[in-house]
Amino acid sequence: MSELDSVSRRQFVAGASTLLLAGTAQGAAEKTAAKPSSDLAIDGGEKAVKTAAGSGRRWGDVERQHLEAMLEQNSLFYWQGPQTKLFIERFKEFCPVKYAQSCSSGTAAIHIAVAAAGIGLGDEVITSPITDIGTVIGILYQQAVPVFADLGAGTYNLDVADVERRITPKTKAIIAVHLTGNPCDLDALKALADRHNLILIEDCAQAWGAKSRGRPIGTVGHIGCFSLQNSKHVTCGDGGIVGSSDERFGPLLQKFGDKGGNRVKWGGFDAFATNYRMSEPQAAVAAAQLTRLEAIAAKRAKLGNLLTEKIADLPSIIPHQVHPEDRAVYWFYMFRIRPEALRCNRSVFTKALLAEGASVSGGYIKVPLYGEPVFQNHGFFAGRWPVKEMGLTTMDFSKHHCPEVEAILASSIRATINENMSEEYILGVAAAIRKVAQHYAA
Ligand SMILES: *Cc1c(COP(=O)(O)O)cnc(C)c1O
Repeated sequence: MSELDSVSRRQFVAGASTLLLAGTAQGAAEKTAAKPSSDLAIDGGEKAVKTAAGSGRRWGDVERQHLEAMLEQNSLFYWQGPQTKLFIERFKEFCPVKYAQSCSSGTAAIHIAVAAAGIGLGDEVITSPITDIGTVIGILYQQAVPVFADLGAGTYNLDVADVERRITPKTKAIIAVHLTGNPCDLDALKALADRHNLILIEDCAQAWGAKSRGRPIGTVGHIGCFSLQNSKHVTCGDGGIVGSSDERFGPLLQKFGDKGGNRVKWGGFDAFATNYRMSEPQAAVAAAQLTRLEAIAAKRAKLGNLLTEKIADLPSIIPHQVHPEDRAVYWFYMFRIRPEALRCNRSVFTKALLAEGASVSGGYIKVPLYGEPVFQNHGFFAGRWPVKEMGLTTMDFSKHHCPEVEAILASSIRATINENMSEEYILGVAAAIRKVAQHYAA
Protein backbone atom coordinates (compact mmCIF):
# COMPACT_ATOMS: atom_id res chain seq x y z
CA MET A 1 0.00 0.00 0.00
CA SER A 2 2.61 2.54 1.05
CA GLU A 3 4.61 1.83 -2.10
CA LEU A 4 1.53 2.63 -4.19
CA ASP A 5 0.76 5.72 -2.12
CA SER A 6 4.18 7.16 -2.72
CA VAL A 7 3.88 6.40 -6.43
CA SER A 8 0.61 8.25 -6.77
CA ARG A 9 2.05 11.21 -4.85
CA ARG A 10 4.94 11.25 -7.25
CA GLN A 11 2.55 11.09 -10.21
CA PHE A 12 0.66 13.98 -8.72
CA VAL A 13 3.82 16.02 -8.33
CA ALA A 14 4.87 15.20 -11.91
CA GLY A 15 1.39 16.22 -13.11
CA ALA A 16 1.52 19.49 -11.18
CA SER A 17 4.90 20.49 -12.63
CA THR A 18 3.62 19.80 -16.15
CA LEU A 19 0.77 22.24 -15.45
CA LEU A 20 3.22 24.86 -14.22
CA LEU A 21 5.28 24.49 -17.37
CA ALA A 22 2.17 24.80 -19.52
CA GLY A 23 1.45 28.13 -17.83
CA THR A 24 4.85 29.56 -18.72
CA ALA A 25 5.66 31.02 -22.11
CA GLN A 26 6.98 28.12 -24.14
CA GLY A 27 10.37 29.58 -25.01
CA ALA A 28 11.09 30.56 -21.42
CA ALA A 29 10.01 27.13 -20.24
CA GLU A 30 12.43 25.45 -22.63
CA LYS A 31 15.31 27.55 -21.37
CA THR A 32 14.58 27.23 -17.67
CA ALA A 33 13.32 23.59 -17.43
CA ALA A 34 16.02 21.09 -16.59
CA LYS A 35 16.64 18.76 -19.52
CA PRO A 36 14.77 15.56 -18.68
CA SER A 37 17.11 12.64 -18.03
CA SER A 38 15.07 10.40 -20.34
CA ASP A 39 11.81 10.34 -22.27
CA LEU A 40 10.18 8.16 -19.60
CA ALA A 41 7.06 9.72 -18.13
CA ILE A 42 8.54 9.26 -14.67
CA ASP A 43 11.31 11.68 -15.75
CA GLY A 44 8.84 14.15 -17.22
CA GLY A 45 8.44 12.64 -20.69
CA GLU A 46 5.20 12.08 -22.53
CA LYS A 47 3.02 9.19 -21.30
CA ALA A 48 2.86 6.07 -23.46
CA VAL A 49 -0.74 5.36 -22.45
CA LYS A 50 -2.88 8.05 -24.00
CA THR A 51 -6.38 6.73 -23.26
CA ALA A 52 -8.09 6.08 -19.92
CA ALA A 53 -8.39 2.46 -18.79
CA GLY A 54 -12.17 2.62 -19.19
CA SER A 55 -14.90 1.96 -16.69
CA GLY A 56 -18.42 0.66 -16.71
CA ARG A 57 -21.21 -0.69 -14.54
CA ARG A 58 -21.14 -4.37 -13.76
CA TRP A 59 -24.89 -4.74 -13.13
CA GLY A 60 -28.12 -3.05 -14.17
CA ASP A 61 -31.51 -3.93 -15.65
CA VAL A 62 -31.05 -7.70 -15.86
CA GLU A 63 -30.13 -7.93 -12.18
CA ARG A 64 -32.96 -5.54 -11.24
CA GLN A 65 -35.51 -7.73 -13.06
CA HIS A 66 -34.30 -10.88 -11.32
CA LEU A 67 -34.34 -9.15 -7.93
CA GLU A 68 -37.88 -7.88 -8.49
CA ALA A 69 -39.06 -11.38 -9.39
CA MET A 70 -37.34 -12.65 -6.24
CA LEU A 71 -39.24 -10.13 -4.09
CA GLU A 72 -42.54 -11.58 -5.30
CA GLN A 73 -41.65 -14.92 -3.70
CA ASN A 74 -42.74 -15.96 -0.24
CA SER A 75 -39.60 -17.95 0.45
CA LEU A 76 -35.99 -16.91 -0.01
CA PHE A 77 -34.64 -20.37 0.81
CA TYR A 78 -32.47 -22.02 -1.82
CA TRP A 79 -33.98 -25.49 -1.96
CA GLN A 80 -36.51 -25.59 -4.84
CA GLY A 81 -36.14 -21.79 -5.08
CA PRO A 82 -36.76 -20.44 -8.60
CA GLN A 83 -33.71 -18.12 -8.55
CA THR A 84 -31.42 -20.95 -7.45
CA LYS A 85 -32.92 -23.24 -10.13
CA LEU A 86 -32.33 -20.60 -12.78
CA PHE A 87 -28.78 -19.93 -11.58
CA ILE A 88 -27.89 -23.64 -11.65
CA GLU A 89 -29.57 -24.10 -15.05
CA ARG A 90 -27.54 -21.23 -16.53
CA PHE A 91 -24.38 -22.50 -14.87
CA LYS A 92 -24.88 -25.89 -16.51
CA GLU A 93 -25.35 -24.22 -19.91
CA PHE A 94 -21.75 -23.07 -19.95
CA CYS A 95 -20.29 -25.70 -17.60
CA PRO A 96 -22.19 -28.88 -18.52
CA VAL A 97 -22.08 -31.01 -15.37
CA LYS A 98 -24.72 -33.41 -14.07
CA TYR A 99 -24.75 -32.16 -10.47
CA ALA A 100 -24.26 -28.63 -9.15
CA GLN A 101 -24.71 -27.03 -5.74
CA SER A 102 -24.81 -23.29 -5.18
CA CYS A 103 -23.02 -22.16 -2.02
CA SER A 104 -21.87 -19.16 -0.05
CA SER A 105 -18.33 -18.69 -1.48
CA GLY A 106 -15.55 -20.16 -3.56
CA THR A 107 -13.92 -21.27 -0.33
CA ALA A 108 -17.16 -23.12 0.50
CA ALA A 109 -17.27 -24.69 -2.99
CA ILE A 110 -13.77 -26.11 -2.49
CA HIS A 111 -14.53 -27.32 1.04
CA ILE A 112 -17.65 -29.08 -0.28
CA ALA A 113 -15.56 -30.68 -3.05
CA VAL A 114 -12.87 -31.86 -0.65
CA ALA A 115 -15.47 -33.28 1.76
CA ALA A 116 -17.43 -34.98 -1.04
CA ALA A 117 -14.16 -36.48 -2.28
CA GLY A 118 -13.84 -38.21 1.08
CA ILE A 119 -10.67 -36.40 2.05
CA GLY A 120 -9.96 -36.62 5.77
CA LEU A 121 -7.49 -37.14 8.58
CA GLY A 122 -3.89 -36.97 7.37
CA ASP A 123 -4.72 -37.26 3.65
CA GLU A 124 -2.53 -35.16 1.39
CA VAL A 125 -3.82 -32.79 -1.28
CA ILE A 126 -1.33 -31.33 -3.73
CA THR A 127 -2.02 -27.78 -4.84
CA SER A 128 -0.61 -24.40 -5.80
CA PRO A 129 1.05 -22.02 -3.32
CA ILE A 130 0.17 -18.95 -5.42
CA THR A 131 -3.57 -18.69 -4.96
CA ASP A 132 -6.26 -17.32 -2.70
CA ILE A 133 -6.07 -18.93 0.74
CA GLY A 134 -9.61 -20.20 0.08
CA THR A 135 -8.05 -22.97 -2.03
CA VAL A 136 -6.66 -24.66 1.08
CA ILE A 137 -9.06 -23.71 3.89
CA GLY A 138 -11.32 -26.70 3.16
CA ILE A 139 -8.35 -29.09 3.08
CA LEU A 140 -7.26 -27.95 6.53
CA TYR A 141 -10.79 -28.05 7.97
CA GLN A 142 -11.07 -31.69 6.86
CA GLN A 143 -7.88 -32.33 8.90
CA ALA A 144 -6.01 -33.08 5.68
CA VAL A 145 -2.62 -31.71 4.65
CA PRO A 146 -2.02 -29.28 1.79
CA VAL A 147 1.19 -30.08 -0.09
CA PHE A 148 2.39 -27.18 -2.19
CA ALA A 149 3.94 -27.92 -5.57
CA ASP A 150 6.00 -25.66 -7.81
CA LEU A 151 4.57 -23.79 -10.78
CA GLY A 152 5.38 -23.19 -14.43
CA ALA A 153 7.62 -20.14 -14.94
CA GLY A 154 5.23 -18.38 -17.34
CA THR A 155 1.90 -20.16 -16.80
CA TYR A 156 1.86 -19.77 -12.99
CA ASN A 157 0.01 -23.09 -12.93
CA LEU A 158 0.98 -26.48 -11.46
CA ASP A 159 4.21 -27.94 -12.80
CA VAL A 160 3.02 -31.49 -13.51
CA ALA A 161 6.47 -33.05 -13.03
CA ASP A 162 6.77 -31.42 -9.60
CA VAL A 163 3.26 -32.57 -8.67
CA GLU A 164 4.29 -36.12 -9.56
CA ARG A 165 7.44 -35.86 -7.39
CA ARG A 166 5.29 -34.87 -4.40
CA ILE A 167 2.86 -37.81 -4.64
CA THR A 168 3.09 -40.17 -1.63
CA PRO A 169 0.93 -43.11 -0.48
CA LYS A 170 -1.10 -40.52 1.49
CA THR A 171 -1.95 -38.36 -1.53
CA LYS A 172 -5.68 -38.36 -2.23
CA ALA A 173 -6.28 -35.42 -4.55
CA ILE A 174 -4.87 -32.57 -6.62
CA ILE A 175 -6.48 -29.14 -6.59
CA ALA A 176 -5.56 -27.45 -9.87
CA VAL A 177 -5.89 -23.68 -9.64
CA HIS A 178 -6.41 -21.99 -13.00
CA LEU A 179 -4.55 -18.90 -11.85
CA THR A 180 -5.70 -15.63 -13.40
CA GLY A 181 -8.06 -17.63 -15.63
CA ASN A 182 -5.28 -19.39 -17.54
CA PRO A 183 -6.20 -23.08 -17.82
CA CYS A 184 -3.87 -25.60 -16.19
CA ASP A 185 -2.52 -28.48 -18.28
CA LEU A 186 -5.62 -30.51 -17.45
CA ASP A 187 -4.88 -33.44 -19.77
CA ALA A 188 -1.51 -34.05 -18.11
CA LEU A 189 -2.96 -33.56 -14.62
CA LYS A 190 -5.92 -35.86 -15.35
CA ALA A 191 -3.61 -38.56 -16.75
CA LEU A 192 -1.40 -38.26 -13.67
CA ALA A 193 -4.42 -38.38 -11.36
CA ASP A 194 -5.79 -41.45 -13.13
CA ARG A 195 -2.41 -43.22 -12.97
CA HIS A 196 -2.22 -42.72 -9.20
CA ASN A 197 -5.94 -43.05 -8.49
CA LEU A 198 -6.23 -39.44 -7.31
CA ILE A 199 -9.19 -37.10 -7.47
CA LEU A 200 -8.70 -33.99 -9.59
CA ILE A 201 -10.48 -30.89 -8.28
CA GLU A 202 -10.45 -27.72 -10.38
CA ASP A 203 -10.35 -24.34 -8.63
CA CYS A 204 -12.02 -22.20 -11.30
CA ALA A 205 -12.56 -19.14 -9.08
CA GLN A 206 -10.52 -16.91 -11.41
CA ALA A 207 -11.43 -18.76 -14.59
CA TRP A 208 -15.10 -18.15 -15.40
CA GLY A 209 -15.58 -18.89 -19.11
CA ALA A 210 -12.07 -20.24 -19.68
CA LYS A 211 -11.56 -23.25 -21.95
CA SER A 212 -9.03 -26.04 -21.99
CA ARG A 213 -8.54 -27.31 -25.58
CA GLY A 214 -12.11 -26.22 -26.26
CA ARG A 215 -13.63 -27.84 -23.16
CA PRO A 216 -15.25 -25.60 -20.54
CA ILE A 217 -13.14 -25.22 -17.45
CA GLY A 218 -14.55 -27.23 -14.54
CA THR A 219 -15.59 -30.22 -16.66
CA VAL A 220 -12.29 -32.08 -17.12
CA GLY A 221 -11.49 -32.74 -13.45
CA HIS A 222 -13.77 -34.80 -11.21
CA ILE A 223 -15.16 -31.70 -9.44
CA GLY A 224 -15.10 -28.02 -10.43
CA CYS A 225 -15.36 -25.07 -8.00
CA PHE A 226 -16.26 -21.46 -8.75
CA SER A 227 -16.40 -18.21 -6.74
CA LEU A 228 -18.85 -15.33 -7.14
CA GLN A 229 -16.93 -13.02 -4.81
CA ASN A 230 -17.06 -9.36 -5.76
CA SER A 231 -13.70 -9.27 -7.58
CA LYS A 232 -14.41 -12.25 -9.84
CA HIS A 233 -15.61 -12.10 -13.48
CA VAL A 234 -19.24 -12.51 -12.37
CA THR A 235 -20.47 -11.90 -8.86
CA CYS A 236 -23.34 -11.66 -6.41
CA GLY A 237 -21.19 -10.00 -3.74
CA ASP A 238 -20.21 -13.33 -2.25
CA GLY A 239 -21.16 -16.76 -3.50
CA GLY A 240 -19.95 -19.92 -5.15
CA ILE A 241 -20.95 -23.05 -7.03
CA VAL A 242 -19.52 -26.55 -7.18
CA GLY A 243 -20.25 -29.06 -9.94
CA SER A 244 -19.48 -32.64 -10.90
CA SER A 245 -20.61 -35.28 -13.37
CA ASP A 246 -18.98 -38.07 -11.41
CA GLU A 247 -21.54 -40.40 -9.81
CA ARG A 248 -19.23 -40.95 -6.84
CA PHE A 249 -19.09 -37.26 -5.88
CA GLY A 250 -21.89 -35.36 -7.64
CA PRO A 251 -24.76 -36.72 -5.50
CA LEU A 252 -22.84 -35.73 -2.32
CA LEU A 253 -22.36 -32.04 -3.14
CA GLN A 254 -25.78 -30.97 -1.87
CA LYS A 255 -25.45 -32.42 1.61
CA PHE A 256 -21.87 -31.28 2.10
CA GLY A 257 -23.06 -27.74 1.43
CA ASP A 258 -26.09 -28.08 3.67
CA LYS A 259 -25.27 -29.38 7.17
CA GLY A 260 -24.87 -32.99 6.07
CA GLY A 261 -28.54 -33.60 5.27
CA ASN A 262 -29.64 -35.01 1.92
CA ARG A 263 -32.71 -33.07 0.73
CA VAL A 264 -33.22 -35.17 -2.40
CA LYS A 265 -33.87 -38.31 -0.38
CA TRP A 266 -33.92 -37.62 3.35
CA GLY A 267 -32.00 -40.15 5.38
CA GLY A 268 -31.25 -38.10 8.50
CA PHE A 269 -27.91 -36.42 9.06
CA ASP A 270 -25.65 -39.19 7.82
CA ALA A 271 -22.71 -36.87 7.17
CA PHE A 272 -21.11 -34.00 9.07
CA ALA A 273 -20.88 -30.66 7.28
CA THR A 274 -21.36 -26.98 7.92
CA ASN A 275 -23.93 -24.60 6.43
CA TYR A 276 -22.66 -23.17 3.15
CA ARG A 277 -26.06 -22.38 1.58
CA MET A 278 -26.61 -19.51 -0.85
CA SER A 279 -29.93 -17.69 -0.48
CA GLU A 280 -32.35 -16.66 -3.23
CA PRO A 281 -31.37 -12.94 -3.34
CA GLN A 282 -27.78 -13.91 -4.15
CA ALA A 283 -28.92 -16.56 -6.65
CA ALA A 284 -31.08 -13.93 -8.41
CA VAL A 285 -28.04 -11.71 -8.97
CA ALA A 286 -25.82 -14.68 -9.85
CA ALA A 287 -28.31 -15.93 -12.46
CA ALA A 288 -28.48 -12.46 -14.01
CA GLN A 289 -24.70 -12.12 -14.04
CA LEU A 290 -24.33 -15.34 -16.01
CA THR A 291 -26.12 -13.68 -18.94
CA ARG A 292 -23.10 -11.34 -19.10
CA LEU A 293 -20.42 -13.99 -18.74
CA GLU A 294 -19.66 -14.86 -22.36
CA ALA A 295 -19.15 -11.22 -23.36
CA ILE A 296 -16.92 -10.60 -20.32
CA ALA A 297 -14.83 -13.73 -20.93
CA ALA A 298 -14.48 -13.08 -24.67
CA LYS A 299 -13.40 -9.47 -24.18
CA ARG A 300 -10.83 -10.26 -21.51
CA ALA A 301 -9.44 -13.14 -23.58
CA LYS A 302 -9.02 -10.81 -26.54
CA LEU A 303 -7.36 -8.01 -24.54
CA GLY A 304 -4.93 -10.29 -22.71
CA ASN A 305 -3.89 -12.08 -25.88
CA LEU A 306 -3.39 -8.73 -27.59
CA LEU A 307 -1.03 -7.63 -24.83
CA THR A 308 0.99 -10.83 -25.21
CA GLU A 309 1.20 -10.37 -28.97
CA LYS A 310 2.59 -6.87 -28.54
CA ILE A 311 5.27 -7.61 -25.93
CA ALA A 312 6.29 -11.17 -26.87
CA ASP A 313 9.49 -10.08 -28.66
CA LEU A 314 10.95 -8.13 -25.71
CA PRO A 315 14.03 -9.97 -24.44
CA SER A 316 13.68 -8.72 -20.85
CA ILE A 317 10.03 -9.76 -20.50
CA ILE A 318 8.38 -13.14 -19.96
CA PRO A 319 4.79 -12.70 -21.19
CA HIS A 320 1.85 -14.57 -19.68
CA GLN A 321 2.16 -18.04 -21.17
CA VAL A 322 -1.10 -19.50 -22.47
CA HIS A 323 -1.45 -22.66 -24.55
CA PRO A 324 -2.49 -21.60 -28.09
CA GLU A 325 -5.51 -23.93 -28.06
CA ASP A 326 -6.76 -22.71 -24.67
CA ARG A 327 -8.91 -19.73 -23.81
CA ALA A 328 -7.48 -17.72 -20.90
CA VAL A 329 -9.91 -15.18 -19.46
CA TYR A 330 -7.36 -12.97 -17.67
CA TRP A 331 -8.72 -12.20 -14.24
CA PHE A 332 -5.53 -10.19 -14.50
CA TYR A 333 -2.50 -10.32 -16.77
CA MET A 334 0.84 -11.20 -15.23
CA PHE A 335 4.21 -10.90 -16.89
CA ARG A 336 7.69 -11.28 -15.45
CA ILE A 337 10.82 -9.25 -15.93
CA ARG A 338 14.16 -10.99 -16.43
CA PRO A 339 16.27 -9.11 -13.85
CA GLU A 340 19.52 -10.12 -15.58
CA ALA A 341 18.41 -8.35 -18.77
CA LEU A 342 17.59 -5.06 -17.04
CA ARG A 343 19.40 -2.27 -15.22
CA CYS A 344 16.51 -1.77 -12.82
CA ASN A 345 14.57 -3.81 -10.30
CA ARG A 346 10.89 -4.73 -10.31
CA SER A 347 9.90 -1.80 -8.13
CA VAL A 348 11.52 0.79 -10.41
CA PHE A 349 10.05 -0.93 -13.50
CA THR A 350 6.56 -0.89 -11.95
CA LYS A 351 6.78 2.77 -10.92
CA ALA A 352 7.94 3.72 -14.41
CA LEU A 353 4.95 1.87 -15.91
CA LEU A 354 2.53 3.58 -13.52
CA ALA A 355 3.93 6.95 -14.56
CA GLU A 356 3.33 5.97 -18.21
CA GLY A 357 -0.36 5.61 -17.32
CA ALA A 358 -0.56 1.80 -17.15
CA SER A 359 -2.64 0.21 -14.39
CA VAL A 360 -0.09 -2.20 -12.93
CA SER A 361 1.25 -3.40 -9.59
CA GLY A 362 4.25 -5.44 -8.51
CA GLY A 363 3.64 -9.16 -7.83
CA TYR A 364 0.43 -10.78 -6.65
CA ILE A 365 0.31 -12.20 -3.13
CA LYS A 366 3.20 -11.08 -0.92
CA VAL A 367 4.44 -14.56 -0.03
CA PRO A 368 3.54 -18.10 -1.15
CA LEU A 369 0.73 -19.47 1.04
CA TYR A 370 3.18 -21.62 3.02
CA GLY A 371 5.01 -18.39 3.97
CA GLU A 372 1.99 -16.91 5.76
CA PRO A 373 2.25 -16.78 9.57
CA VAL A 374 -0.56 -19.29 10.18
CA PHE A 375 1.35 -21.88 8.08
CA GLN A 376 4.77 -21.00 9.48
CA ASN A 377 3.35 -21.47 13.00
CA HIS A 378 1.16 -24.47 12.10
CA GLY A 379 -1.45 -22.66 14.16
CA PHE A 380 -4.67 -23.68 12.39
CA PHE A 381 -6.90 -24.72 15.29
CA ALA A 382 -6.60 -22.49 18.36
CA GLY A 383 -2.88 -22.25 17.66
CA ARG A 384 -2.43 -25.99 17.14
CA TRP A 385 -2.44 -28.50 14.29
CA PRO A 386 -3.98 -31.80 15.41
CA VAL A 387 -2.74 -33.97 12.51
CA LYS A 388 0.84 -32.99 13.25
CA GLU A 389 0.47 -33.52 16.99
CA MET A 390 -1.02 -36.95 16.26
CA GLY A 391 2.02 -37.86 14.19
CA LEU A 392 -0.03 -38.21 10.99
CA THR A 393 2.12 -35.76 9.02
CA THR A 394 5.72 -34.62 9.06
CA MET A 395 4.87 -31.49 7.06
CA ASP A 396 6.86 -28.47 8.22
CA PHE A 397 5.74 -25.38 6.29
CA SER A 398 8.65 -23.38 7.71
CA LYS A 399 11.00 -25.61 5.66
CA HIS A 400 8.81 -25.85 2.55
CA HIS A 401 10.18 -24.31 -0.65
CA CYS A 402 9.07 -23.99 -4.26
CA PRO A 403 11.93 -22.19 -6.04
CA GLU A 404 10.04 -21.15 -9.19
CA VAL A 405 7.11 -19.88 -7.11
CA GLU A 406 9.42 -17.65 -5.09
CA ALA A 407 11.06 -16.38 -8.30
CA ILE A 408 7.63 -15.68 -9.84
CA LEU A 409 6.50 -13.62 -6.86
CA ALA A 410 9.75 -11.64 -6.90
CA SER A 411 9.78 -10.82 -10.61
CA SER A 412 6.17 -10.55 -11.72
CA ILE A 413 4.13 -7.47 -12.57
CA ARG A 414 0.37 -7.58 -12.70
CA ALA A 415 -1.54 -5.57 -15.31
CA THR A 416 -5.23 -4.95 -14.76
CA ILE A 417 -7.52 -6.39 -17.42
CA ASN A 418 -11.23 -5.81 -17.47
CA GLU A 419 -14.05 -5.97 -19.96
CA ASN A 420 -14.45 -2.18 -20.14
CA MET A 421 -10.98 -1.56 -21.47
CA SER A 422 -10.43 -0.64 -25.09
CA GLU A 423 -7.88 -2.24 -27.36
CA GLU A 424 -6.36 1.21 -27.70
CA TYR A 425 -5.68 1.31 -23.95
CA ILE A 426 -4.06 -2.16 -24.07
CA LEU A 427 -1.88 -1.05 -27.00
CA GLY A 428 -0.85 1.87 -24.80
CA VAL A 429 0.10 -0.51 -21.97
CA ALA A 430 2.12 -2.59 -24.44
CA ALA A 431 3.87 0.57 -25.67
CA ALA A 432 4.62 1.53 -22.05
CA ILE A 433 6.15 -1.88 -21.30
CA ARG A 434 8.26 -1.66 -24.48
CA LYS A 435 9.40 1.87 -23.68
CA VAL A 436 10.37 1.07 -20.09
CA ALA A 437 12.01 -2.25 -21.03
CA GLN A 438 14.07 -0.59 -23.75
CA HIS A 439 15.07 2.28 -21.50
CA TYR A 440 16.40 -0.03 -18.79
CA ALA A 441 17.79 -2.71 -21.13
CA ALA A 442 21.10 -4.02 -19.78
C1 LIG B 1 -11.40 -15.95 -4.89
C2 LIG B 1 -10.72 -17.27 -4.89
C3 LIG B 1 -11.06 -18.32 -4.01
C4 LIG B 1 -12.01 -18.13 -2.88
O1 LIG B 1 -13.23 -17.64 -3.26
P1 LIG B 1 -14.12 -16.82 -2.17
O2 LIG B 1 -15.43 -16.70 -2.84
O3 LIG B 1 -13.44 -15.53 -1.92
O4 LIG B 1 -14.19 -17.67 -0.94
C5 LIG B 1 -10.43 -19.53 -4.15
N1 LIG B 1 -9.50 -19.73 -5.09
C6 LIG B 1 -9.12 -18.77 -5.94
C7 LIG B 1 -8.10 -19.07 -6.98
C8 LIG B 1 -9.69 -17.50 -5.85
O5 LIG B 1 -9.30 -16.52 -6.70
